Amino acid sequence: MNPIESVDPAIWDAIQHERKRQQTGLEMIASENYASSAILAAQGSVLTNKYAEGYPGKRYYGGCEAVDDAEKLAIERAMKLFGAEFANVQPHSGASANMAIYFASLQPGDTIVAMSLAHGGHLTHGMHLNFSGKLYKVHHYGVKESDGLIDYDQVAALCKEHKPKMVVAGASAYSRIIDFARFAEICRDNGALLFVDMAHIAGLVAGQQHPSPVPFADFVGSTSHKTLRGPRAGFILAKKEWGPKINQAVFPGLQGGPLMHVVAAKAIAFKEALDPSFAAYAAQTVANARTLAHEFLSAGHTLVSGGTDNHLILVDVNARGLAGRQAERALDAAGITVNRNGIPFDKRPPLDPSGIRVGSPALTTRGMKETEMRQVARWMVEVLAAPEDQAIINRVRGAVAELCMSFPTPHEHA
Ligand SMILES: *Cc1c(COP(=O)(O)O)cnc(C)c1O
Repeated sequence: MNPIESVDPAIWDAIQHERKRQQTGLEMIASENYASSAILAAQGSVLTNKYAEGYPGKRYYGGCEAVDDAEKLAIERAMKLFGAEFANVQPHSGASANMAIYFASLQPGDTIVAMSLAHGGHLTHGMHLNFSGKLYKVHHYGVKESDGLIDYDQVAALCKEHKPKMVVAGASAYSRIIDFARFAEICRDNGALLFVDMAHIAGLVAGQQHPSPVPFADFVGSTSHKTLRGPRAGFILAKKEWGPKINQAVFPGLQGGPLMHVVAAKAIAFKEALDPSFAAYAAQTVANARTLAHEFLSAGHTLVSGGTDNHLILVDVNARGLAGRQAERALDAAGITVNRNGIPFDKRPPLDPSGIRVGSPALTTRGMKETEMRQVARWMVEVLAAPEDQAIINRVRGAVAELCMSFPTPHEHA
């Protein structure tokens, strides 16, 4: 019997309920994935008991020999995986990684140029309710209305006008390749630092399916749990000279003791991503997203930017007379989980926007390929054509459950 079951049956029920949801439904939230059983086990290990404020060899607590080994492995592997000069693997999340990068390089009141949330950026890129929007002067760039692609000319113009200390590149809802060389050139011309937030695409970068920001950026912030398929956490890569400032910004700047069980799980995730099989996973993730895009377009749907180069698509369901929330709900009832999402130049409110964001990383981890993507996209199109039709929803729900039985998640018993 699992100890949770006897100690806390209510929490055990919640975990079983979630396990069942993950196994019997199609997880198509673009930022989610299935971590391996080894990663789950590391997170449930005795390393959670250890305090290790500081860094390997320079801790403020005794007894850190074993966790030093784990953190050194995580650092070495992160640097090797991404060809980076420096890595800090302690950030608890992507948002904390970003905060540490800002704290290491900016003063409150400094100016940054970043992608607006409404066009696909992230909260930590200067949204007014986020610390980044409160501490810094932010000028936002976006995508062009004509083609949905990042408006690099706007980035250059904003930099020329406002001379920011830092430019932030990277997004949470952008389906095209980001031109880091172009960003670096704009930064060079204007004496700005370049911070690339690769939280969404880290796994595609690791698997060589998206150009790496590392040669171009002063700082790279990331999560480890999205396309990279590791534990829920963050990490930072940087040019060597920024190492001491980044380390100081993470600890003691904004965190106390690192989560050593999660650091160990990150080390495992980097090892998994260094294996040649991971590049095949990343390539299939992109091929699967392309197939989804193709099916949606064939069915007459509108996609922001007209398609995808990465792991996600943004569907403008409002173009078909639907609200994002309604689309999210109908698909959820059919066993397909996506999130409603704003689209650039959205005329609907943020809580019920015009789009849905659809991702391939989790289904690809289950082993699904183009054949399954075509099937899944057709089901989605059927549900979106009649979101109130309970008979269609029920039929798709049954077919989804059947498909899921043939593609088990990596932790049926963990
Ligand atoms: C997900 C994401 C983050 C934040 O990650 P959390 O771990 O949720 O804090 C930061 N930046 C971008 C671009 C993201 O997509």
